Order: sequence, then structure tokens, then C-alpha cells
Amino acid sequence: APAASAVPAARPSGEREIPAVLGADLEVPVKGGRLVPYANLDYAASAPCLEPVSAAVAAALPAYSSVHRGAGYASQLTTARYEQARHTVRAFTGARPGDAVIFTRNTTDATNLLARSLPEGTTVVVFDTEHHASLLPWTDPVRLAPPAFPGEAVRAADAALEGIEGPALLVVTAASNVTGELWPIAALAHIAHRHGARILVDAAQLAPHRPLNLTALDLDYVVFSGHKLYAPFGTGVLVGRPDWPAAAEPYLKGGGAVRAVNGGATAPDPDAPEVEWHDDPEARHEAGTPNVLGAVALAAACDALTATGWSALVREEERLLARLRAGLAAVEGVHELSLWGPDHPRVGIVSFVVDGFTAREVAEALSNEYGIGVRDGKFCAHPFVRHLLGAKDGGCDDVTASAVRASIGIGTTDEHVDRLLAALADLTSRRG
Ligand code: PLP
Repeated sequence: APAASAVPAARPSGEREIPAVLGADLEVPVKGGRLVPYANLDYAASAPCLEPVSAAVAAALPAYSSVHRGAGYASQLTTARYEQARHTVRAFTGARPGDAVIFTRNTTDATNLLARSLPEGTTVVVFDTEHHASLLPWTDPVRLAPPAFPGEAVRAADAALEGIEGPALLVVTAASNVTGELWPIAALAHIAHRHGARILVDAAQLAPHRPLNLTALDLDYVVFSGHKLYAPFGTGVLVGRPDWPAAAEPYLKGGGAVRAVNGGATAPDPDAPEVEWHDDPEARHEAGTPNVLGAVALAAACDALTATGWSALVREEERLLARLRAGLAAVEGVHELSLWGPDHPRVGIVSFVVDGFTAREVAEALSNEYGIGVRDGKFCAHPFVRHLLGAKDGGCDDVTASAVRASIGIGTTDEHVDRLLAALADLTSRRG
């Protein structure tokens, strides 16, 4: 079974070890030419690959062949692995029977696919707090201001959806890629449905940190990326109600998406439709040779997280996050960003600014002097970061509208966190 190696060994207690990540022993050069162990605190951008994911890909590499078309044994095996991956994602997301599970390149691609699948005249409602991937694919969306508290998000969605004629879609990110804050997605789904609308949840930052269940949360669509979920780049998914994608123009047109191609100079039957597209949403939108190894990797990551158990993963993340946030609060001149206040629940993502330094200066110093990798900038969420910082401009060159982001996950250690805190204390002390 291709995915078997993705399951970590059971301990006698029945609990499983948290799997290791690749690259944990990476050393990086710092000022003066010394090599130091890399402290990767940039999981929200792309998380390192889990060892069981790497093993699953290595197991699939020796015998891969064309998917869905070949009669040879390797083709059959590859097709089975690909469809097994789909099945795993279906289970991982708690999808309803009959929900579509469409493989894409990443979250952005999955969201764009849904945007191209909207029925004619759909009104899209979206918060300004979204990542650009969820903010930009829509034509003339209704844009909602950052809500002052979670209940305000529900109230604003309720008001915006009131009285919309025709289909409507509410778009919301489950966990912010800027502040890590968790959004009330079940309440928002409830409100959307009360108005006959659907909800798309961007789970790019939720899926690596918390369990996700479409059925229990009553979500219509979710999207996420493999590379934030401890798998390599190149694979994402759109999961959800099949009817909109099944009725839409194929996202990619080409081999695999069609049942028959007639027409042209060789048409045997001039009355037959020129192209008969597949009706099932997966085949219809996945034309061309798919990224089978990417799907295998994504599924292996889902398996590894599920087998480890969310309680152990969340417990360890919350312990490290508490250490990080308490430490940041103790460094004079460091200010954590939040929309809903310091006590609102969040995943392992923290953005902050440092008095007297631009975000770029902080990120460069952390990398060049301490071997720490963080992200700086506006995190593809310009309106939200501008709002959080109260910045007037926010354009790409506006350093006042930038922040530093530290993000954690499997493989993060106390030492990584403590090194960041010590480095920030060191850096801020230089202000004099
Ligand atoms: N949505 C959120 C909340 C994200 O954090 C990201 C990535 O940063 C995306 C969407 C886009 O993901 P991808 O770049 O994999 O398409």
C-alpha cells in the first residue's frame, strides 16, 4: 500500500510520535562566516517536508507512469495511488459523500478554479482581511471592512448577504496568515446558509494546525496547499459541492477533461457536439497529466497528521506559541499585531513590529546574524496589514506598512523560539 509508510510507528501507549521534518540539521552561514543550525520560523510561507511524506514519495518514485490512461501495471498502480490520495484528502477534510475533491497547483489555483465555476450572476462577499488569493479572484465582490470582534464579522456578513438576489458566496479565511487568529467559520457558514448563500473557507493556514471537517462545520468549499501542510510545492485542493464545478467551463482544456472530441475536418458526425466535456468535476477540471507525486505527498501529509493525532500536535504548538508570545511581550519595543486582541485563539503565527527598525532590517538581522528565518512584508494581505498598522499608504515600498512574521509547526523547538527572543532583545538594545 503506497501510503503505509506515511504512518508513524505506534508507541506502546497507543499515541504516536510526532513525525520529524527534513532539514532539521540544516546549517546556515551567519556574519563572520560561522555556520549555525537554521532556526526555521517561516512555516506559514511553506512548511518543511515531513519524513513520512518524503518516504511516501520515495516509495512511489520507482514505478510511476501515466495516470488514468495506460493499461500497464505501473499505470494502474499510479492511477490507484492518485485516486487513493483523493480519497485520503476526502477523509482528511470530512467531506460529504459526493463532494468534489479537485487537485490543483495550490490554494490560489483552487480559489481561482472556484471563481471560474461560479454560476452566472453570483455575488461574492469577502472581508478585507483576506490573503490576496481569496481577495482578488472575484469580479466586483462586496468588500467588508475588518470586523472589530468576531461577532461583528458574523453581523457584517449577515447584513451584506441580506436581500441578495441569485447565488451568493461568502469567502473567509479560517486562520489568518498575518495574525494566526481563528475566524468563527461555523457561525459564518450558518449565516451564509440562512441567506441561501454558500461559503468558501480558505484553510491554507488552518489545515496544518487544526482538524478540518466540512460536514461538521457545514462548509460548502475549502481550499488549501500541500506546501504549507508539510508536503513539497505544487499541489493544492478544492473540496466541496460538486454542482458548480460540474456545470462550469473546464478550468483547463485538454486531454483527460473530455469524453469525446468531434468536429473539424475529420468529423464523422457533423451534428455531434464538437467537444463533450466530462460531467464529473474532477475529470472536467484536471486536464493534462496531473501532479501525481504531489498528490501522493499531500495525502501522506494528511495521513501522518491524522495518525499522530491532533491533540498531541495542538498541545505542542500551543506550548511553543505561548512561550513565543510571552517572550515577545517581554521585549521592550516589540509589538504583536492582532485584530481581536491578545486573548483570541490563534494558530502558530505571530506578526510584530519593532520600534526603531523596519521589518526588513529586523528580518535581515535575524537571518544574517542569528541564522533565523522569518518573513517580513505585508504577507500578500496588503489591506489587512495596512489596517493593523494604521498605515496611510501601504504600497509595496511603504516600510511603515510592513511587519515581521514568525510562524511555527512540527519541528519547531524551544531553542528556535528562545533564539528569536534573545536576538530581538539583543537587536532592540542596540537602539541605545
Ligand atoms: N491563503 C492563505 C491564508 C495563505 O496564507 C496563503 C499563502 O500564503 C494562500 C492563501 C496562498 O497559498 P498558495 O501560495 O499556496 O497558493
